[in-house]
Amino acid sequence: MLTNKKTKIVATLGPACSTREIIKDMIDAGVNVFRVNFSHADYEDVKQKINIIRGLNEEFGYTTAILGDLQGPKLRVGVMEEGVVVHDGDLITFTTAEDILGTAKKVFMKYQNFPNDVNPGERILLDDGKLIFEIVETDKKSEVIARVIQGGELKSKKGVNLPNTKISLPAMTEKDIADAIFAIGQNVDWIALSFVKTPRDLQDLQELIAQHSEYKIPIVAKIEMPEALENIDKIVAYCDALMVARGDLGVELPAHEVPLVQKELIRRAKTARIPVIVATQMMETMITSLTPTRAEVNDVANSVMDGADAVMLSGETATGNYPVQVIQKMTQIIEAVEDSPLIQVPQNTPQIKTKRFITKTICHHAATMANVIKAKAICTLTNSGYTAFQISAWRPNAHILVFTSNKRILTQLNLLWGVKSFMYSKDVSTDDTVTDINEIVKQKGFVQKGDFLINLAAMPIKDKGMVNTLRVSEIE
Ligand code: PGA
Ligand code: MN
Repeated sequence: MLTNKKTKIVATLGPACSTREIIKDMIDAGVNVFRVNFSHADYEDVKQKINIIRGLNEEFGYTTAILGDLQGPKLRVGVMEEGVVVHDGDLITFTTAEDILGTAKKVFMKYQNFPNDVNPGERILLDDGKLIFEIVETDKKSEVIARVIQGGELKSKKGVNLPNTKISLPAMTEKDIADAIFAIGQNVDWIALSFVKTPRDLQDLQELIAQHSEYKIPIVAKIEMPEALENIDKIVAYCDALMVARGDLGVELPAHEVPLVQKELIRRAKTARIPVIVATQMMETMITSLTPTRAEVNDVANSVMDGADAVMLSGETATGNYPVQVIQKMTQIIEAVEDSPLIQVPQNTPQIKTKRFITKTICHHAATMANVIKAKAICTLTNSGYTAFQISAWRPNAHILVFTSNKRILTQLNLLWGVKSFMYSKDVSTDDTVTDINEIVKQKGFVQKGDFLINLAAMPIKDKGMVNTLRVSEIE
């Protein structure tokens, strides 16, 4: 039985969740979206996992979504010898000349322009900032010598951040383009782009999607660079969701600035009525322990209280020991707080008369009215999924039930707060459709006799146009 929580869980796929049984248990425990992290993905393996997820969707009527996450211009070191440790004060060379097996003296840096981009005095942060180096000199061609400021174990293929350096890489590398084309070929529901800096980065991805897909695939902009914060107003206009990517954000900015940035980004997303995912280290200790720390429990709860539409797990489900238990715990935490009246949604009524103005206004009023009349469900019949985004953004207390004949959005909408979607392909008159849908909703147990229910529809139904009609019914 699936849980009834409204806040969604995004779980990263990895070796810890390889079998059909584990993936099914994770979905039953509360996973709504699986993330393919292209930093570590092998195409054959991804295909196999996507098949398992889609197979489960078919068999059990789940609507689990798949998010393809492009790594963007993430710098990485090469493969290291086992157990390399560096100590404060040591000197180490980063080379771009050849892909050597790394030692405590010399490490391969997988970015050709690195010696040219950096300058003495700038910092190199490794492994989410666990190790810190300061650049002593660069030959501007292939070698950079750095001093260890904070030592530790140097592990293979760990990510590198250069918070003081201007990096000359494009937002989408060749690898990202190949990964995006592969993801589109797999019909993923969402695509995330890492290290977004400007709206141009998102437009590039939109154009790539348009070239390779006949459908629009919504984009998650991962906010993890100071430049993205500077451009946030424009970025929200060019994406379909935000991710507060706290892992890299907390290295690119001082980590103590992340909590307020999280609140600010959530507020921006809510004002723009797009969903926002809070990510990274939410339940980190559950990689190796069955008990999360009190701080982690509070972090998940506070992210939900801040207004996150979804919370994300990375290593916890990709490589951790307890991929199912971590979901069960996260679901418990979410259920304990998500109905709190302390959670506020900005009340910025739609005003700008865009072509969706009528639909937006109806969704807003449906959500408000549902709270006033204590309607148990808002049902919307949609082909584009647009109304699901709009209703979800207002966070009504009622169930948000989406009926669609469009198989693609059935799973896509599963990232949205509170939204549950169902296949509906009957082509009958408005009157009959409303009666029919209300009966389905009653049979599924969302409403009972005497409950109020709100239906949204586009009349005439056969045109599959924009929602222009709101109807209130009492269940018989
Ligand atoms: P990543 O993104 O796991 O792909 O790096 C999330 C983050 O940076 O927090
Ligand atoms: Mn990141």
